[in-house]
Amino acid sequence: MEKEQTQSKKSAEKLTNNTELPFFSQNISSSDDQNNLVMSPEEEKLFFQTSLRQLHEETAMLRDLFEKASHELSSLKKPALLVSEIVSLHGDKAVIKVPNGNKFYSYVLKGVKDLAPGDSVLVEQKSLNIVEKIVISEASEVEKFVIIDKPRESWDEIGSLKNEIREIKEVIELPLKSPGLFKKVGITPPKGVLLHGPPGTGKTLLAKAVANSTKATFIEVVGSELVQKFIGEGAKLVKDIFELARKKAPTIIFIDEIDALAASRMDTGTSGEREVNRTFMQLLAELDGFESLGNVKVIGATNRIDILDSALIRPGRLDRLIEVGLPDYDGRLEVLKVHTKRMSLREVNLSDVASKTENFSGAEIKAVCTEAGYFAIREGRDAVNSDDFFAAIDKIRVDDEENSVGMIG
Ligand code: ATP
Repeated sequence: MEKEQTQSKKSAEKLTNNTELPFFSQNISSSDDQNNLVMSPEEEKLFFQTSLRQLHEETAMLRDLFEKASHELSSLKKPALLVSEIVSLHGDKAVIKVPNGNKFYSYVLKGVKDLAPGDSVLVEQKSLNIVEKIVISEASEVEKFVIIDKPRESWDEIGSLKNEIREIKEVIELPLKSPGLFKKVGITPPKGVLLHGPPGTGKTLLAKAVANSTKATFIEVVGSELVQKFIGEGAKLVKDIFELARKKAPTIIFIDEIDALAASRMDTGTSGEREVNRTFMQLLAELDGFESLGNVKVIGATNRIDILDSALIRPGRLDRLIEVGLPDYDGRLEVLKVHTKRMSLREVNLSDVASKTENFSGAEIKAVCTEAGYFAIREGRDAVNSDDFFAAIDKIRVDDEENSVGMIG
C-alpha cells in the first residue's frame, strides 16, 4: 500500500514537473501512467492547476501565431503602393508624377511631413493619396551601372602625349579651374572632347589624369555595355548619368567605346536599332542641354572614328577631336621610363628596348615591362636585364599576332 502511494506520488510529480512538453503531448505520452494513477485531492488540484496554466500559455501562443498570420494575409491582399515623385506642393495637396509620366493633383495624408519637390513618395493605387515619403537614391540605381571614382593617375604617369595633354588641359582643365578667364576673353570652350586612336594608347589614362588634376568625380561608362546589357534602359540611364554627374559636380563623364552608341548606320528599323538610336538621341539631348562653362565635362573615346555619326561631333557637342596615336621612338622611350621607374634594372639600355618595340602601344609597352619582370623572377633574380626585356618583347609580339589571327579567323 505504502509502495503504491509512493509510486503514484512519483508519477504525479513527473507529470507536474514536465513543463517542457506541450500539454497535449504530455497527456498522450503519459496516458498509461494516468490510468494507473491514484492522486490525493491536493495532488489532483496541483495537477489541474498546472495543466490549466499550460493551456493558457498554449492558447496565448496560438493566438499570437494567428494574429501574425492574419496580419501577413491582410498585407498580402493589399494592392502595392505606387512610387511617384513630388512635382510641386500646394498646402495639403501636391502635384505628383507617376511612373508612366502622368501628373495628378493628390492629397497628402496627415503625418506625411517634410515633403519637397523631387522627393519620392508612396501613393495608393486607387486614390493616389500620398501615404508615405521614402528615400530612394536615384543615384544608387545608376551607380550599379557605371564606375564612379576619384582617380589618382597623374600627368607624370603618362609617357609622351605632350600635345594631347596640352589640348585636354585647355579644353577640360582650364574651363573647370578658371571659367572666369573664358568669360573675360568672351569665348565658350567645348563641352567635351573625343579621344580617338588605337587601343591601349592612353585615352582612358588621359581622362583619368584630367579628372585627378581637376579633383573631379570620374564617371566611366562603356558604350557597348550601355546598349547590350541594359536593353530598354539605355536612354533613361544616359539621363540618370548626367543627373548624377550634376549632383557630384565637378564631374567628368568618360564614355568609352562611344562608337557603340554613336555609329552612323543604315536605319534597319529593328527594335535593337531603335533602342540604340533612342540612347544616342538622349546623349545628344544631354550634351545640348548643359552649359559649356558648367562643371560637367564629357570625354568620349573610340577606336573607330571612321564609323562615328557626325551628329556627335557637331559644334556644341564633342567638337574637339584629339587623336591619340601609337607612340614613336621618343614616345616609346618615355613610356618605358614611366613603367620602369620603380623596377630594379641591371644594365638595361632602354633606347634598345624602344627601338625594338615599333608599333607597340603604351599598354603593350607596359605589358613588356611586366613580362620582363616575370622572366627575372622565374630565374630567381631580383633585377631585370636586357635579355628579359627582349624575351618579353617577343612574347608580347607573338601574343598580339595570335590575338589578331584569332580575331580574323
Ligand atoms: P582602349 O581604347 O582599349 O580603351 P586606351 O587608349 O583607353 O585603350 P588606356 O586604358 O589608357 O588605353 O591604357 C592602358 C594602360 O596602358 C594604361 O593603364 C597605362 O598603364 C598604359 N599606357 C597607355 N598609354 C600610355 C602612356 N602614354 N604612358 C604611360 N602608360 C600608358
